[in-house]
Amino acid sequence: PFMAYQTINPFDGSVVQTFQEFSDSELASALDSAADCFAGWRQTSFAERAAIAHKAAGLLREQSGDYARLITLEMGKRIEEAEGEVALSADIIDYYADHAEAFLKPQPLKPESGEAVIESSPLGVLFGVQPWNFPYYQLARFAAPNLMAGNVVMVKHAGCVPQCAQAFEKLWRDAGAPAGAYTNLVISYDQVNAVIDDPRIKGVALTGSADAGKSVAARAGQNLKKSTMELGGSDAFIVLEDADLDKTVEWAVWGKMNNMGQCCVAAKRFLVVDSLADRFLEKFQAALAGLKAGDPMDRATTLAPLSTEGALTKLVEQVDKAVSDGATLVMGGKRLDRPGFFMEPTILTDIAPDTAAFREEFFGPVALFFRVKDEDEAVALANDSDFGLGGSVFTQDVARGKRVAERIETGMVFINQPTWTAPDLPFGGINISGYGRELSGLGIQEFVNKKLVRVA
Ligand code: NDP
Repeated sequence: PFMAYQTINPFDGSVVQTFQEFSDSELASALDSAADCFAGWRQTSFAERAAIAHKAAGLLREQSGDYARLITLEMGKRIEEAEGEVALSADIIDYYADHAEAFLKPQPLKPESGEAVIESSPLGVLFGVQPWNFPYYQLARFAAPNLMAGNVVMVKHAGCVPQCAQAFEKLWRDAGAPAGAYTNLVISYDQVNAVIDDPRIKGVALTGSADAGKSVAARAGQNLKKSTMELGGSDAFIVLEDADLDKTVEWAVWGKMNNMGQCCVAAKRFLVVDSLADRFLEKFQAALAGLKAGDPMDRATTLAPLSTEGALTKLVEQVDKAVSDGATLVMGGKRLDRPGFFMEPTILTDIAPDTAAFREEFFGPVALFFRVKDEDEAVALANDSDFGLGGSVFTQDVARGKRVAERIETGMVFINQPTWTAPDLPFGGINISGYGRELSGLGIQEFVNKKLVRVA
């Protein structure tokens, strides 16, 4: 259901601020302004755009504390994680400021006769629909490559992070971007559809749930507009018998609990070979039991709230359903008895293949634990998923890790680390995890016209 745009502090449930949605005429003038901006922006040089982007990255770093506190206020992640996200967002913006020109430089071909070259030209106004779990990082990885390519962007951010959404729009103005280069849209789902239908919109990028993806991708498809979809995941975390147990457990805790598990690439299914399974489970459980709930603004806190009441309720219901379908609760499973949207770290095991829990994404601090016979069974189970985003394999034999990686059907596989992100690594999935790639040299190619210019 459509939620209003509201800042609700997940630590105590208080309503901090409510935002008015755009009227249709406000939306129309925002679209006009973006289209006008594109006419000029496409003519600017890479150097001019890079100067603005570097300025934006610099402002993020200088005012990191203020930007980070808004994240923690609105979606509840621990302040250190919020600061890390601000730094990563600045790095992404700098990365594209530094490399966009090289990524998009004309590529001469060697035709049988005459000349031919592939040029990369911007498409126009792009529309992004973005989620709350990384309120700036998601915007940076959409906006930075596309602005550097000469496109302009409009963004509908998630309803629960309206202040982060505004702050990121203001960032580009403060950095000197012209009005209309980056526009934050406070709009309804109907208005989302109207934006996608607008002939001046040339591409659509969404990160979020498969349901949101189906709706937005279908609308883009009806309009024959290019889209990229970065949807959910159910990443396998495979532990082979020759893994370094202590290091692997540390990574398991990080892979499950960073951002309170609210990551599309969080480790969600832990597949551990028999010989290590008991010891792994015992150490993993002990580490999760040691986390301390508290104010995410406080650096001593190790267990933060979830983003919203709705997210918490949904997750507890998923766990209850799994248990009533026969799964075993190893630990946790309940809401914490305190104000705010806190949930106990949870481990489920004995999850039967014909139950909902086996197929669904658990978006939070819930680990699904599976004991497997060997590498082959781990790979088969990892691939028995509708998703195909990331995954990881833990082994001291890197060559073996690479062989396993080759057999895993996802967009990303990491060896001896849970799947994660960096400006220069492509990010994206297959199957119902979506299509297209963001970040790296690939991310900037999604919304450019690879135009052939041929001289006879
Ligand atoms: P949604 O997918 O619903 O939200 C993501 C974005 O899409 C938000 O801006 C949302 O707006 C918008 N949106 C949702 N439905 C539509 C629609 N029909 N038309 C237009 N825009 C739409 O995520 P939720 O926050 O509801 O989380 C639900 C689940 O999605 C999670 O439990 C998780 O499984 C998955 N998810 C995955 C993410 C990822 O990183 N891949 C990120 C977030 C969620 P609004 O906020 O206004 O509803």
